[in-house]
Amino acid sequence: MSEPQCTPKLYLGGSKNVAGSEAWSHFADFLRASPRVLCLVGAGLSAPSGLATWRGTNGLWNDIDLKELASPKKFQEDPVTVWNFYGERLLKSLAAQPNAAHHALAALARSHDEWLTINQNVDGLLEQTNHPTPSLLDIHGTLKNVCCTTCDYNINVNTPHDIPFLLLLSNADGQSRPAEISDLPHCPECTNLLRPGVVWFGEKLGAGAPDNIDDWISQEQIDLVIAAGTSLEVFPAAEWVNTARTLGASLAIIDVDHRFVDDLDDDDWFFEGDIAVILPRILSFL
Ligand SMILES: [Zn+2]
Repeated sequence: MSEPQCTPKLYLGGSKNVAGSEAWSHFADFLRASPRVLCLVGAGLSAPSGLATWRGTNGLWNDIDLKELASPKKFQEDPVTVWNFYGERLLKSLAAQPNAAHHALAALARSHDEWLTINQNVDGLLEQTNHPTPSLLDIHGTLKNVCCTTCDYNINVNTPHDIPFLLLLSNADGQSRPAEISDLPHCPECTNLLRPGVVWFGEKLGAGAPDNIDDWISQEQIDLVIAAGTSLEVFPAAEWVNTARTLGASLAIIDVDHRFVDDLDDDDWFFEGDIAVILPRILSFL
């Protein structure tokens, strides 16, 4: 009898065979005995919260070139379009809640003295859990902080009411989205434009990265690298994972689809399935 679709699977190394539940237990033993863990998370972590992709669900943004739009140049040329894009993302993030994977990850981080989570998401959901703050690095910034393009002013956004532009946007449809620069959020202190607190292409990474991450990796042997809901092909994330592995760390990947990873070692792990099931299940074995 085949297993139901929702049952997560664990593959060991490059094996095509699904490992049994004892392998989950062995992984939990390894995780428990690993003092230093580096965890890289991406969009897949927030997918169960309904924040699956960068694209709008209504198709309005299907034709955009994200690399062009998410740039200081585009913001300078066309802040209205850029703000409409990020404003929609921010509204969705404000409406979303952390899922079971966020909470399980926070619990795993709390159970280790030397754990570092590199968060590539900008939705702020992991920050709403009790993940220890010092070990959580938002390298791409966060949508929920809006800052001035000129002075030091910034504001944490907790509801759409915090920024009138968001209320305007939340009441608009595709044809009537805010269209004037005067509609956009402006600094109450210096009157210049505010911008989303995310890191755009060509800008320096947030949270002190990459220097502090390079330092952390080189300080001492890392036992385990966990890549949860993220591509391992994107720079600089791929480089951190590779460096840690070169220095002897084992690798555990958690993703929706089991795909070919060309250099998995025999003692690496690939968890396939719903991350909101997998991370709590790992936690249950600890
Ligand atoms: Zn200002």
